[in-house]
Amino acid sequence: MWLKFTFMLNKERIHQLACEVGFSLCGVAKCRYLDVSHRRFYDWTARGNGDGLDYMSRNIAKRFDPSQLVEGAKTVIVCALNYRNPITDGYAEKARGKIASYACTTDYHYTIKSMLMTILARLREENPQLGGRAFVDSAPLAEKSWAVEAGLGWIGRQSLLVTREFGTTVLLGELVLCDEADSYDEPFAGDGCGTCRRCIDACPNCAIGGDRTIDSRRCISRLTIEQEASMPSDCTLNGWLFGCEECQNVCPYNHSKPLATHSEITPKFDPREISIAEWQAMSDEEFAERFGRTPMARSGRERIVRAIELSE
Ligand code: SF4
Ligand code: SF4
Repeated sequence: MWLKFTFMLNKERIHQLACEVGFSLCGVAKCRYLDVSHRRFYDWTARGNGDGLDYMSRNIAKRFDPSQLVEGAKTVIVCALNYRNPITDGYAEKARGKIASYACTTDYHYTIKSMLMTILARLREENPQLGGRAFVDSAPLAEKSWAVEAGLGWIGRQSLLVTREFGTTVLLGELVLCDEADSYDEPFAGDGCGTCRRCIDACPNCAIGGDRTIDSRRCISRLTIEQEASMPSDCTLNGWLFGCEECQNVCPYNHSKPLATHSEITPKFDPREISIAEWQAMSDEEFAERFGRTPMARSGRERIVRAIELSE
Protein backbone atom coordinates (compact mmCIF):
# COMPACT_ATOMS: atom_id res chain seq x y z
CA MET A 1 0.00 0.00 0.00
CA TRP A 2 1.29 3.49 -0.92
CA LEU A 3 1.25 6.10 1.82
CA LYS A 4 0.49 9.65 0.75
CA PHE A 5 2.56 12.22 2.64
CA THR A 6 1.02 15.60 3.26
CA PHE A 7 3.57 18.39 3.57
CA MET A 8 2.77 21.40 5.69
CA LEU A 9 4.42 24.77 5.45
CA ASN A 10 6.07 25.89 8.64
CA LYS A 11 4.94 29.42 9.48
CA GLU A 12 8.01 30.28 11.52
CA ARG A 13 10.29 29.04 8.74
CA ILE A 14 8.46 31.28 6.26
CA HIS A 15 8.94 34.30 8.53
CA GLN A 16 12.62 33.41 8.87
CA LEU A 17 13.11 33.08 5.11
CA ALA A 18 11.34 36.39 4.44
CA CYS A 19 13.65 38.10 6.91
CA GLU A 20 16.74 36.42 5.41
CA VAL A 21 16.00 37.65 1.88
CA GLY A 22 15.49 41.18 3.16
CA PHE A 23 11.75 41.73 3.58
CA SER A 24 10.72 44.12 6.32
CA LEU A 25 7.48 42.34 7.25
CA CYS A 26 5.81 39.04 6.46
CA GLY A 27 2.43 37.50 7.24
CA VAL A 28 0.94 34.10 6.45
CA ALA A 29 -2.80 33.93 5.68
CA LYS A 30 -5.12 31.04 5.06
CA CYS A 31 -6.54 31.10 1.57
CA ARG A 32 -10.24 31.98 1.51
CA TYR A 33 -12.71 34.10 -0.38
CA LEU A 34 -12.57 37.67 0.96
CA ASP A 35 -16.24 38.43 0.45
CA VAL A 36 -16.38 41.73 2.38
CA SER A 37 -13.41 43.18 0.48
CA HIS A 38 -14.92 41.97 -2.79
CA ARG A 39 -18.17 43.83 -2.08
CA ARG A 40 -16.28 47.03 -1.20
CA PHE A 41 -14.28 46.84 -4.42
CA TYR A 42 -17.44 46.19 -6.43
CA ASP A 43 -19.10 49.28 -4.89
CA TRP A 44 -15.97 51.36 -5.64
CA THR A 45 -15.91 50.40 -9.31
CA ALA A 46 -19.70 50.86 -9.57
CA ARG A 47 -19.12 54.52 -8.65
CA GLY A 48 -17.04 54.88 -11.82
CA ASN A 49 -13.59 54.65 -10.24
CA GLY A 50 -12.30 52.11 -12.70
CA ASP A 51 -13.52 54.06 -15.72
CA GLY A 52 -10.83 54.08 -18.39
CA LEU A 53 -8.80 51.43 -16.56
CA ASP A 54 -9.68 48.20 -18.33
CA TYR A 55 -7.52 46.06 -16.07
CA MET A 56 -9.63 47.16 -13.08
CA SER A 57 -12.77 45.58 -14.45
CA ARG A 58 -11.12 42.32 -15.50
CA ASN A 59 -10.88 39.25 -13.25
CA ILE A 60 -12.46 40.94 -10.25
CA ALA A 61 -13.36 37.64 -8.52
CA LYS A 62 -9.75 36.46 -8.73
CA ARG A 63 -8.57 39.43 -6.69
CA PHE A 64 -10.39 38.14 -3.65
CA ASP A 65 -10.26 34.37 -4.23
CA PRO A 66 -6.69 33.23 -5.00
CA SER A 67 -7.87 29.67 -5.71
CA GLN A 68 -9.18 31.14 -8.98
CA LEU A 69 -5.64 32.33 -9.75
CA VAL A 70 -3.72 29.27 -8.58
CA GLU A 71 -5.53 25.95 -8.65
CA GLY A 72 -5.39 24.26 -5.26
CA ALA A 73 -4.20 27.42 -3.45
CA LYS A 74 -4.17 27.00 0.34
CA THR A 75 -1.87 29.70 1.71
CA VAL A 76 -1.13 33.35 0.89
CA ILE A 77 2.20 34.75 2.09
CA VAL A 78 2.31 38.54 2.05
CA CYS A 79 5.72 40.21 2.24
CA ALA A 80 6.38 43.93 2.65
CA LEU A 81 9.53 45.88 1.85
CA ASN A 82 10.19 49.26 3.47
CA TYR A 83 11.05 51.84 0.79
CA ARG A 84 11.38 55.01 2.90
CA ASN A 85 14.19 57.26 1.68
CA PRO A 86 15.17 60.92 2.23
CA ILE A 87 13.16 62.01 -0.83
CA THR A 88 9.92 60.75 0.73
CA ASP A 89 9.23 63.98 2.61
CA GLY A 90 12.08 66.13 1.43
CA TYR A 91 10.40 68.49 -1.06
CA ALA A 92 10.13 72.22 -0.43
CA GLU A 93 6.58 73.54 -0.10
CA LYS A 94 6.19 74.94 -3.61
CA ALA A 95 8.50 72.45 -5.31
CA ARG A 96 7.90 71.44 -8.93
CA GLY A 97 9.29 68.35 -10.60
CA LYS A 98 8.27 66.03 -7.75
CA ILE A 99 8.65 62.27 -8.23
CA ALA A 100 7.24 59.74 -5.76
CA SER A 101 10.12 58.37 -3.72
CA TYR A 102 9.49 54.71 -4.63
CA ALA A 103 10.02 55.68 -8.29
CA CYS A 104 13.55 56.94 -7.62
CA THR A 105 14.80 53.38 -7.09
CA THR A 106 15.25 50.31 -9.25
CA ASP A 107 11.79 49.10 -10.28
CA TYR A 108 10.57 47.20 -7.22
CA HIS A 109 8.76 44.67 -9.41
CA TYR A 110 12.13 43.10 -10.31
CA THR A 111 13.50 43.33 -6.79
CA ILE A 112 10.49 41.89 -4.97
CA LYS A 113 9.84 39.18 -7.55
CA SER A 114 13.41 37.97 -7.18
CA MET A 115 13.11 37.92 -3.37
CA LEU A 116 9.84 35.98 -3.53
CA MET A 117 11.32 33.46 -5.96
CA THR A 118 14.22 32.90 -3.56
CA ILE A 119 11.76 32.07 -0.76
CA LEU A 120 9.83 29.74 -3.08
CA ALA A 121 13.02 27.98 -4.15
CA ARG A 122 14.04 27.42 -0.51
CA LEU A 123 10.60 26.04 0.34
CA ARG A 124 10.84 23.72 -2.65
CA GLU A 125 14.15 22.36 -1.34
CA GLU A 126 12.02 21.02 1.52
CA ASN A 127 9.08 19.99 -0.70
CA PRO A 128 9.92 19.77 -4.43
CA GLN A 129 6.23 19.17 -5.21
CA LEU A 130 5.14 22.51 -3.72
CA GLY A 131 2.88 24.31 -6.17
CA GLY A 132 2.47 28.05 -6.21
CA ARG A 133 3.19 31.38 -7.85
CA ALA A 134 4.72 34.73 -6.95
CA PHE A 135 2.88 38.00 -7.59
CA VAL A 136 4.01 41.62 -7.65
CA ASP A 137 1.26 43.67 -9.27
CA SER A 138 1.45 41.11 -12.07
CA ALA A 139 -1.90 39.50 -11.48
CA PRO A 140 -5.22 40.64 -10.13
CA LEU A 141 -4.67 39.98 -6.44
CA ALA A 142 -6.14 42.37 -3.86
CA GLU A 143 -2.80 42.76 -2.13
CA LYS A 144 -3.83 45.31 0.51
CA SER A 145 -6.77 43.17 1.61
CA TRP A 146 -4.48 40.15 1.78
CA ALA A 147 -1.95 42.15 3.78
CA VAL A 148 -4.66 42.88 6.36
CA GLU A 149 -5.66 39.22 6.30
CA ALA A 150 -2.03 38.29 6.98
CA GLY A 151 -1.87 40.66 9.96
CA LEU A 152 0.47 43.30 8.52
CA GLY A 153 -1.70 46.35 9.19
CA TRP A 154 -4.95 48.07 8.33
CA ILE A 155 -6.38 50.04 5.42
CA GLY A 156 -6.02 53.73 6.25
CA ARG A 157 -8.42 56.50 5.28
CA GLN A 158 -6.32 57.16 2.16
CA SER A 159 -6.95 53.51 1.18
CA LEU A 160 -3.30 52.47 1.59
CA LEU A 161 -2.00 49.74 3.87
CA VAL A 162 -0.71 51.28 7.12
CA THR A 163 1.75 49.26 9.20
CA ARG A 164 2.74 50.13 12.75
CA GLU A 165 6.40 49.37 12.00
CA PHE A 166 6.93 51.28 8.72
CA GLY A 167 3.78 53.33 8.17
CA THR A 168 2.62 53.38 4.56
CA THR A 169 6.02 53.27 2.84
CA VAL A 170 5.96 49.57 2.08
CA LEU A 171 5.86 47.71 -1.23
CA LEU A 172 4.04 44.39 -1.31
CA GLY A 173 4.56 41.02 -2.94
CA GLU A 174 2.75 37.72 -2.45
CA LEU A 175 3.29 34.01 -2.75
CA VAL A 176 0.16 31.93 -3.31
CA LEU A 177 1.03 28.36 -2.38
CA CYS A 178 -0.77 25.03 -2.61
CA ASP A 179 0.20 23.60 0.80
CA GLU A 180 -1.47 24.34 4.11
CA ALA A 181 0.64 25.97 6.82
CA ASP A 182 0.96 24.50 10.30
CA SER A 183 -0.46 27.76 11.66
CA TYR A 184 -1.50 31.17 10.34
CA ASP A 185 -1.03 34.75 11.42
CA GLU A 186 -4.08 36.47 12.85
CA PRO A 187 -5.75 38.97 10.53
CA PHE A 188 -5.16 42.55 11.67
CA ALA A 189 -8.02 43.58 13.93
CA GLY A 190 -8.93 47.17 14.65
CA ASP A 191 -8.13 50.50 13.13
CA GLY A 192 -5.13 52.67 13.94
CA CYS A 193 -6.59 55.80 12.29
CA GLY A 194 -8.89 56.67 15.20
CA THR A 195 -10.19 60.22 14.78
CA CYS A 196 -7.30 61.30 12.51
CA ARG A 197 -8.26 62.85 9.16
CA ARG A 198 -4.90 64.34 8.16
CA CYS A 199 -4.68 62.52 4.83
CA ILE A 200 -8.19 63.63 3.85
CA ASP A 201 -7.38 67.25 4.64
CA ALA A 202 -3.99 67.12 2.87
CA CYS A 203 -5.18 65.87 -0.52
CA PRO A 204 -4.90 68.74 -3.04
CA ASN A 205 -7.80 67.36 -5.11
CA CYS A 206 -10.17 66.21 -2.35
CA ALA A 207 -9.85 62.73 -3.81
CA ILE A 208 -10.17 60.86 -0.51
CA GLY A 209 -13.71 59.86 0.40
CA GLY A 210 -15.07 59.22 3.86
CA ASP A 211 -15.25 55.46 3.34
CA ARG A 212 -11.53 54.67 2.91
CA THR A 213 -11.68 54.89 -0.85
CA ILE A 214 -10.04 57.19 -3.36
CA ASP A 215 -11.82 58.84 -6.26
CA SER A 216 -9.13 57.68 -8.64
CA ARG A 217 -10.30 60.11 -11.34
CA ARG A 218 -9.02 62.96 -9.12
CA CYS A 219 -5.92 61.24 -7.73
CA ILE A 220 -2.60 62.70 -8.88
CA SER A 221 -0.96 59.28 -8.81
CA ARG A 222 -3.32 58.03 -11.47
CA LEU A 223 -3.37 61.32 -13.38
CA THR A 224 0.42 61.28 -13.76
CA ILE A 225 0.97 57.55 -14.33
CA GLU A 226 -1.97 56.05 -16.21
CA GLN A 227 -2.01 56.67 -19.96
CA GLU A 228 -5.81 56.76 -20.10
CA ALA A 229 -6.35 59.35 -17.40
CA SER A 230 -7.50 62.84 -18.27
CA MET A 231 -7.45 65.60 -15.69
CA PRO A 232 -10.71 67.20 -14.48
CA SER A 233 -10.63 70.97 -14.87
CA ASP A 234 -10.81 71.59 -11.10
CA CYS A 235 -7.84 69.33 -10.28
CA THR A 236 -4.15 70.17 -9.90
CA LEU A 237 -0.97 68.10 -10.13
CA ASN A 238 0.56 70.28 -7.40
CA GLY A 239 4.08 69.98 -8.79
CA TRP A 240 4.02 66.18 -9.14
CA LEU A 241 5.39 64.62 -12.34
CA PHE A 242 5.08 60.98 -11.33
CA GLY A 243 2.96 59.73 -8.44
CA CYS A 244 1.99 61.73 -5.35
CA GLU A 245 2.77 61.24 -1.67
CA GLU A 246 0.96 64.13 -0.03
CA CYS A 247 -1.52 61.94 1.84
CA GLN A 248 1.34 59.75 3.06
CA ASN A 249 3.63 62.55 4.20
CA VAL A 250 1.09 63.79 6.75
CA CYS A 251 0.33 60.36 8.21
CA PRO A 252 1.55 60.20 11.81
CA TYR A 253 2.52 56.57 11.30
CA ASN A 254 5.13 57.70 8.75
CA HIS A 255 6.98 60.01 11.10
CA SER A 256 10.37 58.99 12.52
CA LYS A 257 10.39 55.67 10.72
CA PRO A 258 13.59 53.85 9.61
CA LEU A 259 15.00 54.32 6.12
CA ALA A 260 15.08 51.43 3.66
CA THR A 261 18.13 49.22 3.97
CA HIS A 262 17.80 47.03 0.86
CA SER A 263 20.45 48.14 -1.66
CA GLU A 264 18.05 48.03 -4.64
CA ILE A 265 15.53 50.19 -2.81
CA THR A 266 17.82 53.13 -2.17
CA PRO A 267 17.43 56.12 -4.57
CA LYS A 268 19.28 55.98 -7.88
CA PHE A 269 18.72 59.69 -8.57
CA ASP A 270 17.44 62.76 -6.74
CA PRO A 271 14.56 64.56 -8.51
CA ARG A 272 15.35 67.72 -6.50
CA GLU A 273 18.51 68.03 -8.61
CA ILE A 274 16.68 67.88 -11.98
CA SER A 275 15.21 71.16 -13.22
CA ILE A 276 11.99 71.46 -15.22
CA ALA A 277 14.05 72.70 -18.19
CA GLU A 278 16.22 69.59 -17.97
CA TRP A 279 13.17 67.31 -18.07
CA GLN A 280 11.77 69.20 -21.06
CA ALA A 281 15.04 69.03 -23.00
CA MET A 282 15.61 65.33 -22.36
CA SER A 283 15.57 62.98 -25.35
CA ASP A 284 13.88 59.58 -25.26
CA GLU A 285 17.33 57.98 -25.40
CA GLU A 286 18.62 59.93 -22.41
CA PHE A 287 15.41 59.19 -20.49
CA ALA A 288 15.81 55.47 -21.18
CA GLU A 289 19.48 55.61 -20.18
CA ARG A 290 18.86 57.43 -16.90
CA PHE A 291 15.48 56.04 -15.81
CA GLY A 292 15.02 52.83 -17.82
CA ARG A 293 15.28 50.61 -14.75
CA THR A 294 13.01 52.70 -12.54
CA PRO A 295 9.19 52.51 -12.33
CA MET A 296 9.07 55.67 -14.49
CA ALA A 297 10.03 53.61 -17.53
CA ARG A 298 6.48 52.24 -17.52
CA SER A 299 4.85 55.56 -18.31
CA GLY A 300 7.77 57.06 -20.23
CA ARG A 301 9.20 60.52 -20.89
CA GLU A 302 6.10 61.82 -22.66
CA ARG A 303 4.00 61.46 -19.51
CA ILE A 304 6.53 63.54 -17.59
CA VAL A 305 6.45 66.28 -20.22
CA ARG A 306 2.65 66.17 -20.26
CA ALA A 307 2.58 66.55 -16.47
CA ILE A 308 4.82 69.62 -16.76
CA GLU A 309 2.48 71.12 -19.36
CA LEU A 310 -0.57 70.42 -17.19
CA SER A 311 1.13 72.12 -14.24
CA GLU A 312 1.73 75.39 -16.11
S1 SF4 B 1 -1.95 60.33 -3.80
FE1 SF4 B 1 -2.16 62.59 -3.78
S2 SF4 B 1 -3.96 63.04 -5.06
FE2 SF4 B 1 -4.01 60.82 -4.56
S3 SF4 B 1 -5.30 60.71 -2.75
FE3 SF4 B 1 -3.18 60.92 -2.00
S4 SF4 B 1 -2.87 63.13 -1.75
FE4 SF4 B 1 -4.71 62.85 -2.99
S1 SF4 C 1 -3.19 60.21 8.02
FE1 SF4 C 1 -4.45 59.62 9.77
S2 SF4 C 1 -6.42 58.97 8.84
FE2 SF4 C 1 -4.88 59.00 7.19
S3 SF4 C 1 -4.10 56.89 7.12
FE3 SF4 C 1 -2.72 58.05 8.47
S4 SF4 C 1 -3.57 57.71 10.55
FE4 SF4 C 1 -5.17 57.11 9.08
